[in-house]
Amino acid sequence: MIKKVSKHIVQNEPLLFEQSSPGKLGYQLPDLDVPPVDAQAVLGEKNVRSEIEDFPEVSEFEVVRHFTRLSTWNYAIDLGLYPLGSCTMKYNPRVNELVARTEGLAWAHPYQPDSLAQGCMEVIAALEKALAEITGMDAVTLQPAAGAHGEFTGILMIRALLEKRGNARKKILVPDSAHGTNPATAMAVGYTVENIKSNDRGMVDLEVLARATTEDVAGLMITNPNTVGVFEENIRKICAIMHDKGALVYMDGANMNALVGVSRPGDFGVDVMHLNLHKTFSTPHGGGGPGSGAVAVAKVLTPFLPTPRLKREGDAWHWNYDLPDSIGRVRAYYGNFGVLVRALAYIMAHGGNGLRQATLDALLNANYLRGLLEPYYELAYKAPSMHECVFSDDRQAKKGVRTGDIAKRLIDYGFHPYTVSFPLIVRGALMIEPTETESKRELDLFVDAMISIAKEVEEDPELVLKAPHSTRTRRVDEVTAARKPIVRWIPKVTASQAAD
Ligand SMILES: *Cc1c(COP(=O)(O)O)cnc(C)c1O
Repeated sequence: MIKKVSKHIVQNEPLLFEQSSPGKLGYQLPDLDVPPVDAQAVLGEKNVRSEIEDFPEVSEFEVVRHFTRLSTWNYAIDLGLYPLGSCTMKYNPRVNELVARTEGLAWAHPYQPDSLAQGCMEVIAALEKALAEITGMDAVTLQPAAGAHGEFTGILMIRALLEKRGNARKKILVPDSAHGTNPATAMAVGYTVENIKSNDRGMVDLEVLARATTEDVAGLMITNPNTVGVFEENIRKICAIMHDKGALVYMDGANMNALVGVSRPGDFGVDVMHLNLHKTFSTPHGGGGPGSGAVAVAKVLTPFLPTPRLKREGDAWHWNYDLPDSIGRVRAYYGNFGVLVRALAYIMAHGGNGLRQATLDALLNANYLRGLLEPYYELAYKAPSMHECVFSDDRQAKKGVRTGDIAKRLIDYGFHPYTVSFPLIVRGALMIEPTETESKRELDLFVDAMISIAKEVEEDPELVLKAPHSTRTRRVDEVTAARKPIVRWIPKVTASQAAD
C-alpha cells in the first residue's frame, strides 16, 4: 500500500548544492593505462585551479534532470500570450532561427579577414539599409547591444554634435511618461534631466515644452507612440520647438511596433532614435539574452556614428576606421550578429507590405482588447490607442485590490501578467500589449480571464488578494528581494525554507 503520494516532479526542486553528495561525479572514465602526471608540476601552480569550496558533487543525470525540471517552470512566448506592455513580446518565427543557424553565419568569427566575411558584411549592410528605409533616417549603426545602450549612443552623438558647434549645453528634457532608461541615459552622458508634464490626454504639453526649451537644452527624449500607447499628435510641432532653439530630438523607438510601414520618424522631424530589434523585429528576448539597440540618425548626425562603418570599395565591403568626428566604438566587434541575422530574416520574410500588415494587426489586436475590457477596467486616457492600451485599477482599488493583485491572479488563469504599475503617470497601471502574432482565440481567452477576475474582485476580493493559488511559491517579498538580494548560496537555508 502506498502510504504517502509523492508528487515527485512538481515538487519544489532542491538546489544542486542540496543534492550534492561527496565523491559523486558527472563522468565515468576507465583507469589510466599510462603513468599519471602531476598537473601542477607540468602546468605550473598558477595555471591549476584549486578546489572550489562547497562545489556541488552530482551525477550527470542529476544535473540534466535538475535543469530540465527548472525549464518546465518557465513561462514562455512559445507557451502562451505574454501581454507585457512596451516590451513587444511577439512570437518569433522559426524561419529566423533557421537562417541564423546557417553554417557560414553561425560560425563566423569577428577576426575573420574582410575577404572571408563579405557575406556577413552584406547582411549588416542590408539590415542597415532596411532600417534606414523603415525609419526614414539617413544612416544606421548596429553596434549597440540593447535599447538603453542605443539611447546612450544616441545622446553621446547629440553631445558630440553640440560640442562641435561650440556648446554641449546642460539639460535633456524628458516627458513624465518616459521609460526609466531615458533619464538614466541623459545622466550617464553628463546631462541633467528636466521632467515635462503630460497633459490630460497623455501627451506632451506644447506650452510646457516651449517654456522649458531654453538655450541650455541639448535635446528632448520622446517616445512615440508614448508609454500610454498614445501617438503624440503634435510631434511635428514638438520637433520644430526643439529645432528652433538649436536642440535635437531623440526618439525612443521601443514602440515602433505601432509605426513600421505606416509612419516614419525621419519624416516627422526626429534626429536620432533607437530600435529594439529584440522587440519590434522579432528576435527572442525576455531571458536577458543578447539584444540589439540599432540607432538611426538624420544627416546632421552621421559623422558622429560609432566606428567602424561599412564602406563599399569596388565590389567588396571594408570596415572604415577613418572617421574623425566619430564618438568611437560603443561595443566590441560589430554588434550582436546573431540577433541582426534574425532581424533581417524577419524583415525579408515579411517584405514591405507584410511589415505594414503586421503593424495594422498589432493596432487591431490592442484595440480589440481595449474595447472588450473597457466595461470592466478604467481606461487611463481616452485618446485613441495604438499597439497597447493602459488601464488603471481605480475600480478594483475600491475593493482593496490593486494592479499587482490582478496580475498575480492572471497567473492562475495561465497567462503571463501584463506590465504592472508602469507608466508611473497612471496610478495602478495595467499596461497591455498583445502584439500582432496572437490569434483571436488567444485574445478571447485572455479577455475571459480578465473579465472573470474583475467579477471575482466584486464578489470575493480575498480570492484575488491571496493569488496565485496554482504556483509552487505563492507571494514572495519583492521589496526585500530587490533591496537585499541574496546572491550567494548560504548552506544553512534550504530552498523550501527560503520559499517560506
Ligand atoms: C524596453 C524599453 C527600453 C529599453 O530597452 P532595453 O533593450 O531593455 O535596454 C527603453 N524604452 C522603452 C520605452 C522600452 O520599452
